[in-house]
Amino acid sequence: MKTQKLTIVIPAYNEEEILVSSVHRLIDIEDQIATRSNQGLQEIRADILIVDDGSKDRTWELIEQLHQENSRVCGLRFSRNFGHQSALIAGLTEAVKTADMLVTIDADLQDDPDKIPDMVNLYAAGDDLVYGVRNNRDSDSWFKRTTAQGYYRTLRLLGVELVPNHADFRLMSKRATETLLNYHERNLFIRGIIPKLGFKTGQVEYKRTPRLAGESKYPFKKMVAFAWDGITSLTIAPIRLILILGMVACLLAIGMVVYAVILKILGLTVHGWSSLMVSMWFLGGVQLISLGVIGEYIGKLMTEIKGRPRYTIQTKLE
Ligand code: UDP
Ligand code: MG
Repeated sequence: MKTQKLTIVIPAYNEEEILVSSVHRLIDIEDQIATRSNQGLQEIRADILIVDDGSKDRTWELIEQLHQENSRVCGLRFSRNFGHQSALIAGLTEAVKTADMLVTIDADLQDDPDKIPDMVNLYAAGDDLVYGVRNNRDSDSWFKRTTAQGYYRTLRLLGVELVPNHADFRLMSKRATETLLNYHERNLFIRGIIPKLGFKTGQVEYKRTPRLAGESKYPFKKMVAFAWDGITSLTIAPIRLILILGMVACLLAIGMVVYAVILKILGLTVHGWSSLMVSMWFLGGVQLISLGVIGEYIGKLMTEIKGRPRYTIQTKLE
């Protein structure tokens, strides 16, 4: 059987504290996979591609050093910070040129890299997509856990298909990756596109550990922006909700007319000040929210139509 090539793609933004040890650990794991493949199984070559998402610390210098130590480590450097999802897409776009299977994993290795050999086994057994699925959320704060769960539940209610407890730790075959890269959206929420690709899928379970060094590169603001992108780029359900809300408001208004007529008949008029105020503010609010949601979608349309590049590569180490 032809030698298969595995590339591990790592997005990295200000990861100087953890990158080197993470890469060493991944190289060890790749060596295990390669040795095992020498023992009569399929032969596997493996390398690593790190995408520096415009880091402001020494991340790029470290990538250059790692590349010098070991030519299997390659790097891409963005001209500025484009975001985690763009870094993943850039890494996949570059790596898929030569790789047969691609694994994406965060630089902090919170997602268990020891599961990569299992992912490769599933690939060898015929899976095109292997999801890393967390079997618990113990390592998250209470706040992150509840907001994340509520958020994913909402997405599902809005009709977005998602793999439960799966983020961006996965293995993809060459053809699955090429299919993903055919989705050209600028507003990226990769985990929402993956279930649409089709193909035979498998999963490995793992326990997510806390970050060993450095801080989360997803501060609250970035997380909210990402969550909002997830909803508005994957579903138009909120616009439909507006329609439904509008209908409900109309029905309520009809009810109010009936109520007013009854009051009139009973001779109890002009005590309607409060109901008038409430309905005025309520409807005003509904209208403003509706306009806002529609505006949000129009804004998204604008960024998509402009078709700006999703990222700009400044330097390449190969
Ligand atoms: N990351 C990135 N660009 C960004 C933010 C994050 O490439 O603008 C990378 C980061 O270096 C890490 C991964 O995305 O490899 C996930 O980030 P992090 O671990 O900070 O997120 P968390 O685990 O806290 O959700
Ligand atoms: Mg992390």
